[in-house]
Amino acid sequence: TLPADCPPDVETLGRHTWTLLHSITATYPTVATPEKQQEMSMFLDIFGRIYPCWFCAGDFRKWKEENKPKLETRQDFGDWMCRAHNAVNKKLGKKEFDCRFWEERWREAKDGRCG
Ligand code: FAD
Repeated sequence: TLPADCPPDVETLGRHTWTLLHSITATYPTVATPEKQQEMSMFLDIFGRIYPCWFCAGDFRKWKEENKPKLETRQDFGDWMCRAHNAVNKKLGKKEFDCRFWEERWREAKDGRCG
């Protein structure tokens, strides 16, 4: 990891971006209106075009094309994002995350250690 005041490399950018993306799913409506779904769909499209690691963005767009975003509920969207992240984990040879626990990781830790 680079010193905190250096421009981000692909890893640092990625780690912080996943924090943002999973936090967005964790605070998404439990049941989303068609307007909210449309808004998120637009965000994901734009994200896939502007994410400043171009090969990452390209692979994300491709994965999204093959795995249409599930935006009706928080549960579905959180699970979809977890699977998107796992596709990258797999590509990089990292351990895949058990998506049953995405909400515990990003919304409500159950063991008390996070305050
Ligand atoms: P990260 O993968 O950044 O994960 C951060 C934390 O999220 C983990 O500590 C864990 O607690 C949690 N987590 C892990 N997996 C999941 C999951 N499936 N669901 C929910 N939570 C989870 N890097 C490349 O080298 N090549 C690429 O092509 C590439 N594509 C990317 C595409 C996108 C859209 C993004 C956002 C990032 C991409 N990255 C890519 C960066 C890469 O995914 C990692 O962020 C980076 O390698 C740092 O990894 P890390 O080990 O710190 O943990």
